Amino acid sequence: MKSRAMVLEHFNKPLVQREFEIPFLPDGGILVKIFASGVCGSDLHMAKGEDPRTPLPIILGHEAIGEVLDINTEKYDLKGHKLQKGDWIIWNRGIVCNQCFWCKVAKQPYLCPYRKIYGINLSCEHYPYLLGGYSEYMILFKETDILKISTNIDPSTLVIAACSGATAMHAFDVLTEPILSKTVVVQGAGPLGVFCVVAAKSLGASNVIMISGAQQRLDLAIKAGADLVLNRYELTEDERRKRVLDLTNNRGADLVIEATGSSKALLEGLNLLRRGGTYLVTGVAVPQEPIPLDVYHNLVLKNLHLQGVWVSDSRHLVQAVDIVLRNRDIFEKLITHRLNLLQANEALKLVEERQALKVVLTS
Ligand SMILES: [Zn+2]
Ligand SMILES: [Zn+2]
Repeated sequence: MKSRAMVLEHFNKPLVQREFEIPFLPDGGILVKIFASGVCGSDLHMAKGEDPRTPLPIILGHEAIGEVLDINTEKYDLKGHKLQKGDWIIWNRGIVCNQCFWCKVAKQPYLCPYRKIYGINLSCEHYPYLLGGYSEYMILFKETDILKISTNIDPSTLVIAACSGATAMHAFDVLTEPILSKTVVVQGAGPLGVFCVVAAKSLGASNVIMISGAQQRLDLAIKAGADLVLNRYELTEDERRKRVLDLTNNRGADLVIEATGSSKALLEGLNLLRRGGTYLVTGVAVPQEPIPLDVYHNLVLKNLHLQGVWVSDSRHLVQAVDIVLRNRDIFEKLITHRLNLLQANEALKLVEERQALKVVLTS
């Protein structure tokens, strides 16, 4: 049996179609037939050589959904269901060591320095090769945290839970206070930002304000529950700030979430927060130019909580899947393009040209 896969062999070159013999399963491994694989902004960074974690050659794709074809171990999912052939599954894209300081003492496994990530830092040069989602089949190691999903859902709808959704839930998880009745600003209406809007409303935020550029994205943010959308191309930064202040009796937002992927967004976001507010920086995923930070006015005088959010943990995957299942109609609308696996290069181009909200490769 063979598996076709799209392989990144060289940075800034198109992915190459390759055929892999499906190898014998590693001890406790699981063979998965991939139904849907999300194309993430990170994939584009990796293809351009901007993500320092990327080994070559690699099968990209860290947001996949599939069916268990073979399993040679007794294994249970994150909710206690015994996994069997024929089950549809989603999984935590990262596998941690469970032995280091971050896994065992700090209880922050997402910071494990030995974290292995499907489609991100595992090369297809090494056994068992099929370790990324841009492939017909994948092999999961026995340590993978898996969640069984219902077979009556469009698998494409759930890919967002594997990466952006889980990261968004991680962001809310680090808050020390509930966001009930609070005003939340989300910067950036990509998949991560839209997920943050849905989650913020689910958690009880009274006002969710989305700041973004393209009108199509802002329209979706409204459908996702945003109470106010501010178009960056129509309003100046001062005008946007005034709108946030007007809505908060001149205090500023309780919480700002950066979901743009650009460090520069912080320069605006810091000015939108009230004194004592919290900033969650979730979108910046690759090294970027430093930005000037006015430590006195923006950080100390405001007693600001400035929080970076790096990837996610298995509990966040469970939470993200739950949010998607309760808001299926919104997340279906998020998917603007469905392409087949062999069109992966076109898919990356759509993401690069920002024509798409979410692109999914399907089998
Ligand atoms: Zn991703
Ligand atoms: Zn560890």
